[in-house]
Amino acid sequence: MDEAPLYLRPRLEPPLAPLLDSSDLLHTLVDALGSPLDVLLPDRIAANAERFADVRRAHRLGGREFFAHKANRSSALVRHLAATRAGVDVASLDELRHALGAGFTGDRIVASGPKGPEFLWLAALVGATVHIDGPTELDTLAGIVRDHRLAPVRVLVRLSGFTSPGVAIRSRESRFGVPAAALDGLLDDLERHRDAIDPVGTAYHLDTVSLDEKAVALEGCLHAMNTLRARGFQPRIVDVGGGFGTGYVEHRDEWDRYTTELTRAVLGERPPLTWGGHGYGLRAEGGTVRGSLGLYPAHRPDAGPAYLDALLSRTAPTLGRPLGGLLLENLYDLYVEPGRALLDQCGLTLARVLETRTTRAGEPVLRLAAKATDIGLEDHGVLVDPLLLDRGGSGPADPADAKEPAGVFLTGSLCLESDLITRRRVFLPRTPCPGDLLAFANTAGYCMDFAATHAQRQPPARKVAIGGGPGRWRWTLDEEYWPVPRPEGRSA
Ligand SMILES: *Cc1c(COP(=O)(O)O)cnc(C)c1O
Repeated sequence: MDEAPLYLRPRLEPPLAPLLDSSDLLHTLVDALGSPLDVLLPDRIAANAERFADVRRAHRLGGREFFAHKANRSSALVRHLAATRAGVDVASLDELRHALGAGFTGDRIVASGPKGPEFLWLAALVGATVHIDGPTELDTLAGIVRDHRLAPVRVLVRLSGFTSPGVAIRSRESRFGVPAAALDGLLDDLERHRDAIDPVGTAYHLDTVSLDEKAVALEGCLHAMNTLRARGFQPRIVDVGGGFGTGYVEHRDEWDRYTTELTRAVLGERPPLTWGGHGYGLRAEGGTVRGSLGLYPAHRPDAGPAYLDALLSRTAPTLGRPLGGLLLENLYDLYVEPGRALLDQCGLTLARVLETRTTRAGEPVLRLAAKATDIGLEDHGVLVDPLLLDRGGSGPADPADAKEPAGVFLTGSLCLESDLITRRRVFLPRTPCPGDLLAFANTAGYCMDFAATHAQRQPPARKVAIGGGPGRWRWTLDEEYWPVPRPEGRSA
């Protein structure tokens, strides 16, 4: 290869890092269970929830951490969390049933997202806390409670479209929630439904990395709490949703170099880095770059619990004091609903290499036994390198001692031109051989099953859960996992 490789090496922490050193185990699992294969590490989700709780407690706040279930359909993860103090945020009837079946009680469940009557009924029946998305949903829920003579339902009023007087930042538009400016109308509805609905607090969920926007939203929730109190309600919870993020790429310099070179490639200043000159949102117009990079900021030193800490430490835009302190002063509980951030380092997706070939244009292409929808990293704008695991190897091939690095495109197993697992040339320490495995690290958040299909009757990946550690890894099928030890029998 005549150009220097542009690596985007993944961030790896225990237990994911030592598991990747157990190449033989991973090859055996794919031999037995097929490619692609999702591997989950339930111990790590519990550790991640505890880190969020540590931040909350450091700000001396009560409350709870809720796992946004929609980020992964695994049973092992939900069952493992049921054995901790954490809660779960469910966004469909079936997610609610799954959480109840895993052992969660209603007091540890929040129900969010668009809801039909069955979902509302079951949530109300089991005493879950319901995010109210608008006046129609509120009326439906109140009607269900009265018809079925249920106890009043705890609701969080989900707000959106926050602005702050004298502050240029406004929170981004959301399809969900009640516009903060329309809260008064909703309060009239809540008064009518006092017999059926207990408004316990306010909520937002913003899909942004911007702390400024989140600070405006959190302050907006605090104002809304005052408005609720002024009407005689007793709200006590502020739910700041999810969106704390994850860092996928270890080294900032690799990320910066990659995005710089991508821009140069779009301008034609260097050979293309992508399939058909794809620009990930960028394009060249008259010698300058236009558009905006549609990529997840893959190097994020401040993601996850650190992001929550930064938000709580931030000064409220108009009240002029730290947001965490304002919550504490009012004795409000803090709810958080991380999806992606709770799944940081919780799993990987394995895919077997089937074939390497060179296109007529001289492009090296690797065909994998997986569909693009089984490995959703690119679909979520996340660019990060897979690791190359040879059979019998002692760990992933290391770019540091690569003798003949290779830049390859990764394609999937569908009979479809667009089934590309990467639209960029991925740099690997050597050219893989058929039978090698590629390990895509940190796929548990949204990149395993959110968009997985049965196209061409090719099933989505099976899931296994792994615990233990080097020399004592134990695995089960995801659906067989329960957080209790099994009888082991006597060893000979
Ligand atoms: C999707 C979602 C989350 C989780 O978002 P992440 O970005 O994965 O943390 C939390 N709350 C609500 C209401 C959501 O819709």
